[in-house]
Amino acid sequence: MTGASVLAALGLIVFCAGSVLAAEPFETDTITTSAGDVQVTFIGHASLMLRFGGKIIHVDPFDQLADYGRLPKADLVLLTHEHRDHLSPALGKVRTEKTVVVLTRLCAEQVGGGTVMNNGDVLTIMEIRIEAVLAYNLVHKRPDGAFYHPKGDGNGYVLTFGDTRVYVAGDTENTPEMKALKHIDYAFLPMNLPYTMTPEMVADAAKALKPKVLYPYHYGDSDTSRLVALLKDTPEIEVRVRRMK
Ligand code: ZN
Ligand code: ZN
Repeated sequence: MTGASVLAALGLIVFCAGSVLAAEPFETDTITTSAGDVQVTFIGHASLMLRFGGKIIHVDPFDQLADYGRLPKADLVLLTHEHRDHLSPALGKVRTEKTVVVLTRLCAEQVGGGTVMNNGDVLTIMEIRIEAVLAYNLVHKRPDGAFYHPKGDGNGYVLTFGDTRVYVAGDTENTPEMKALKHIDYAFLPMNLPYTMTPEMVADAAKALKPKVLYPYHYGDSDTSRLVALLKDTPEIEVRVRRMK
């Protein structure tokens, strides 16, 4: 093969690889842990899909983001709370009779057969330690004066995979309980108004949590560059922005 034809062949390979990626609309990251890799697929908003140990975990599957009928079925589903962008008909698309659905008490009023976790509960499912933690508003309220997320209704989840802890916060603000969490390696923190946090509140939480990687998520039209600027003096926290509007 001549040098030119090798280059042409390489070009073809690169082109083909590019087209395959282009057909996949979701970004993915790999988190390396002592128990094996966790592949994170960013579906959008507050919806994630994780692959770990051959299992598929859907977090807050939301039908307006993807055709969930085309995504892998869930071995485990985690629901943070009952709002429509977190508990949606997508659950029915990924659930099988074997799927374990971890959810809140209020979600269980709409979904049969799930495993209710209250704030503070800990379970180990599929070799993942799952800790349900508080998720609530301190500041932001509805026009009628009620908090969007009253204390006790929603869950965040701290997931431990081997030596690595991943915190999916749910809809919450920078509460003292959040800021007291220890050894968080990867944190998904919500950042849209009026429901959750401002970039300033996310930065405040991140400075206390000190995750290695901070993923702002559920960020709507919030300015993620503002968050990056607020954390420019804490280079030990990598702010990783993925398509999670
Ligand atoms: Zn909510
Ligand atoms: Zn939400």
